[in-house]
Amino acid sequence: MATFIVLLGPPGVGKGTQAKILANAKKLAHISSGDLFREHIKNQTELGKHAKLFIDRGELVPDDVTIGMIRERLSYADCKPGAILDGFPRTPIQAVALEKMLAEFDGQVNIVPYITAPESVVVGRISGRWTCRLNGHVYHQMFNPPKQVGVCDIDSSELYQRDDDKVETVTIRIRVYLEQTIPLVEYYRKSGKLVELNGAQAVEQVSKDLCQVVKN
Ligand code: ADP
Ligand code: AMP
Repeated sequence: MATFIVLLGPPGVGKGTQAKILANAKKLAHISSGDLFREHIKNQTELGKHAKLFIDRGELVPDDVTIGMIRERLSYADCKPGAILDGFPRTPIQAVALEKMLAEFDGQVNIVPYITAPESVVVGRISGRWTCRLNGHVYHQMFNPPKQVGVCDIDSSELYQRDDDKVETVTIRIRVYLEQTIPLVEYYRKSGKLVELNGAQAVEQVSKDLCQVVKN
């Protein structure tokens, strides 16, 4: 049966960073709903234009749009063995939809690592985040700086600060997380799949802890 791992946690806690490391180690696909939306926005698709209205305000994109986008991504061949889901689900409705979709693909959510850190830590991480224009590679001005300021080490494209990483929008995103995503923590805790991890540590330590809980 395919293995699906859902990474849960507040915006900026390091889900994308950890998802990439784990996906590499486990040879599983990495599905980031935020990256998929940003790709649609870059390509100016109808879905992207619609999603941008919500993303720019720091709100969640409506469930039906988000679920449809993930359904399509899950149907790709690279998800056959499973995937690391980063940023999806974010509401109980999305979690129920995910279970139904995975049942169709003969899979299930195996484990839900819940990465936590104090609000001051996540705000510091978001405010220093720089993202590469071409492929979404992520840097941090202090904790993971690029070799050359403003330039991606991997593909030499420009680094930019996401509009929704500006301080006004971050406050809204954290409120939205508390109101709409925290109920998922209880949902997965009840299912026995939730494992809490301390995200307020160096990247390498969080990834060691994450590998350990996934192995167990
Ligand atoms: P999320 O996907 O949860 O929004 P990211 O993985 O994009 O978070 O990380 C947010 C920012 O924090 C990025 O700039 C990243 O380089 C940095 N970062 C991630 N994990 C850590 C960590 N453990 N310590 C310090 N900085 C980190
Ligand atoms: P992220 O890259 O995970 O920080 O997501 C950036 C933005 O994309 C969020 O603030 C939301 O507006 C939107 N988004 C990402 N994932 C979802 C989701 N599962 N449900 C609704 N909106 C989402």
